[in-house]
Amino acid sequence: MLENLKEEVYKAHMNLWKNRLVMWTSGNVSGRDPKTDLVVIKPSGVSYDKLSPDNLVIVDLNGKIIEGQLRPSVDTTTHLYIYKHMPDVISVIHTHSIYASAFAAIGKPIPVCLTAMADFFGGDIPVGGLVLIGEEEIGKEIVRKIGNLKAIIMKNHGPFTIGKSVSEALKAAIFLEESARTLIMAKILGEPQSIPESIVNKLHKNYIEKYGQ
Ligand SMILES: [Zn+2]
Repeated sequence: MLENLKEEVYKAHMNLWKNRLVMWTSGNVSGRDPKTDLVVIKPSGVSYDKLSPDNLVIVDLNGKIIEGQLRPSVDTTTHLYIYKHMPDVISVIHTHSIYASAFAAIGKPIPVCLTAMADFFGGDIPVGGLVLIGEEEIGKEIVRKIGNLKAIIMKNHGPFTIGKSVSEALKAAIFLEESARTLIMAKILGEPQSIPESIVNKLHKNYIEKYGQ
């Protein structure tokens, strides 16, 4: 069932691992099938070297297990809340990637100081409040604060990214980490300079309308 989506979600997990955005068992990717509204997600507590398309879990939007032998990620409720309230979202990714989580630790947004950030994200990466995992609270906070961005940093926790495809959410997770890393490096040299909002808007609009094939 949903073999292609499972393959795609599996590959995204491996990509996070290869790019060192996740360690041990932390982090998770999910993908929603728009036809059935079923969601493929990482099983809880399974390390990346043990992961395969076959041990991913399929749940419905209420969290009921439809296929899979293992329990789904503890972050499943968060992913499902986002899907239920943001119908355009096809994929959600959560990591504790080091540089983005450094911003979570200080509870500050990641400012747009690079044109590539303006292109892809189109604004400062917002910070959501400190909320404990388990119920729908993280999802609610993400939906409340993310606006039309593809990423958010949850205070004292780490980043969540979303996309209209698994690859878009993955690109956001990787690019967010790269941006956070560059800004932390920049901070060693001096004060990073924010790009004025009017220029950010122009760059983002151009990117959306003209970038790619
Ligand atoms: Zn987490």
